[in-house]
Formats: sequence, structure tokens, C-alpha cells
Amino acid sequence: MTDRIREFLRTRRDEGPCLVIDLSVVRDNYIAFTKAMPDSRVFYAVKANPAPEILELLNTLGSCFDCASIGEIEMALAAGATADRISFGNTIKKERDIARAYERGVRLYAVDCEAEVEKIARAAPGSKVFCRILCDGADAEWPLSRKFGCVPEMAPRVLEQAHRLGLVAHGVSFHVGSQQRNPLVWNTALASAASIFREMAERGITLSMVNLGGGFPTKYLKDIPAVQAYGRAISDSLRAHFGNRLPETIIEPGRGMVGNAGIIEAEVVLVSKKSDDPADIRWVYLDIGKFHGLAETMDEAIRYPILTERDGDEKIPCVLAGPTCDSVDVMYEKDPYWLPFSLEIGDKVLIEGTGAYTTTYSSQNFNGMSGLRQIVI
Ligand SMILES: *Cc1c(COP(=O)(O)O)cnc(C)c1O
Repeated sequence: MTDRIREFLRTRRDEGPCLVIDLSVVRDNYIAFTKAMPDSRVFYAVKANPAPEILELLNTLGSCFDCASIGEIEMALAAGATADRISFGNTIKKERDIARAYERGVRLYAVDCEAEVEKIARAAPGSKVFCRILCDGADAEWPLSRKFGCVPEMAPRVLEQAHRLGLVAHGVSFHVGSQQRNPLVWNTALASAASIFREMAERGITLSMVNLGGGFPTKYLKDIPAVQAYGRAISDSLRAHFGNRLPETIIEPGRGMVGNAGIIEAEVVLVSKKSDDPADIRWVYLDIGKFHGLAETMDEAIRYPILTERDGDEKIPCVLAGPTCDSVDVMYEKDPYWLPFSLEIGDKVLIEGTGAYTTTYSSQNFNGMSGLRQIVI
């Protein structure tokens, strides 16, 4: 919690849960990334939090933008980014949207199969493409599974086809899984990337870029390595696998750029028990849950730090749930959350580390409840 947010919340009078973003933290994070990885260009993953104020600040600082849709491309352009600083990084795109991105000047696209290469060759002729390879997401708290990327063995065929169809076979990308607490996992992916570079060179095609993806963590309850540790581990792996022919690199931080810049203020709506049995667990219901921004509590994957004004008091395990009428709107139950015994209906709670993947995951009007409001200071 920053002093600016504390001061802001002291004077806030509005009702309902609200995310407060401190832009000065985003600025510090951007600078930390550029210092820890001075040779990599930063493409902020817009989906983490597309607030115009965040995009404008990052644009001013010189960031590029990784966009997943035409909507995100337009948000980046509206924030002042030029098209040469925007990538269309989703491997799943409608051909119409590729054409729209091309019209707006975007020339950098992600692919992971030949069918997507064909769309880009038709709708965005001459553009640069990078091929995303699968990563198993080991050690990540929010792994990205098998949805994106092809096996490394397939990438040369995809890139060679791009070359044949008049595109620029630009490089390789991967994502090691979000909230990745182990800086060493980039090593395996970089070994694969280097072998794809070699394989392509044998086919007479020179690749030049490695997109290191996102995955940089933000602090929740557990400690995380500093961004410098990621910079060092990645730099060591690059040297180990590429020798002194280092490729151009880019990073796409989302969570690591904005996660710790935000705090949600919410309210306790109900504290209750399901029976008279003294051993029965206590339920605490907030006015925010899985459907209004805390979607990443799915499978209890992300465990947010929660502060109350009674944290000095004795704590007991509680099931923590949201306010909607859907029974999956329960955040922590398998592993109950310890909250003060004295917690009461009407108490405010602060949910830390909520700057990323909250507003964008908030539904509209489910049970007549509005989406998560956001205030940027
Ligand atoms: C979501 C996403 C990111 C950002 O991931 P974080 O773990 O939030 O840093 C980066 N690149 C791509 C392609 C993504 O889909």
C-alpha cells in the first residue's frame, strides 16, 4: 500500500468495491524492467490493465504494446503509441481483424500454425511474424497450459512457410506461465529457441528476434525474486544458447508491470455460519468476488493479501466468498483464509496486488451488480 493510495482512500466517499491504481508504481516498475533487462524492448501486455492513464504513461516512458485484439490495438493507438510500437500478439485472430490491424499500420504478428500464417500472408502482406512455441508452464502459479504455441519441432516449418508466402520470418516467442516465481525456467525455452534459429539458418533463413513473453511475478502472499534475478538468469541463458550472436529480444510484462500498483477496497457484506456446530467454519462474504474482478482466485490459484482494520486481533480460518448468486463465487474454501475473529459486517477490507487481471475480468450487470470501478491516481 502506497502513501498516495492510503491518502486517497481516507477521503473516498463512494460506495461499492473500487480498484485504486497508483501510477507512480507503474512508472517504478517500468524503470526496473528497463534497468534489469537493458537490451530488451518492453511490450506491455495491454490485457493486464488497459486503463488509458496506464497506457499513456507507458507510452510516454517509451514502452511498446502487446495487443490481443483490434480493441486493444485501438486503445494503444489512442494512448499515443505509433503502429510500429504495437504487436498483434494473439495467435488466434480473425482474418478481418488482421486486415484492420494492417490498415492501421501494425506489422508484427504472432503465429503458431500454418493456417494462421496463411491469414497473415493474405491480410497483412510483407509483415513480420514470430512463431510461438509451447512451454509447459512448470512452476507458474497461473500456467497457460497448451492453448498457445506449437511444439518446437514444428516451428521451423511454420516460419519457413511464412518466408515462402512473402512474410518476414522474424523470430520465436514463448510464455513461461504467468506469476512465474522461478527465473530459471526461461532456460529451457531459450534452448528450444536457439535450436530453431540454427535449423532456420540451415534452411537459409535468418531469424533475428526472441520474444521472452511475460510471466514476471508480482508480490502476493509469498515472496518473489527481484526483477534483477530474472534479468541475470535470462541473460545467462541467452549467452549459453546463442553464444555471442545474441538475438534482439523483447519482453511482454503484464502482471509484473501493474499488479502491485493496485489495491481494491471492498466491504464485508455478511459474516455467518451454516450450523450451530461450534466446529463449523465461518463464512465471510464480500461485495466483490470471482465475477467482479477476482477471477484469478479460480482453483485458489492466486492468493491475494487481504488487510483489515482489525489485523492485530486473533485470526480464525474463514471461507471467503463473493456476493453473487452463483455458487462458484467462492474464492478460498479448500485452503481457508485467516481473518480476524472480530471482523464485522460493514468493515472495509483492502485486497492488495490487484492492479493486473481484475477490471478486465469483471462482468457487467451479473445479478445487477456493476463492473469493478477503477480510479487511477
Ligand atoms: C498475457 C500475456 C502476457 C503477459 O503475461 P504476464 O504473465 O501477465 O506478464 C504476455 N504475452 C502474451 C502473449 C500474453 O498472452
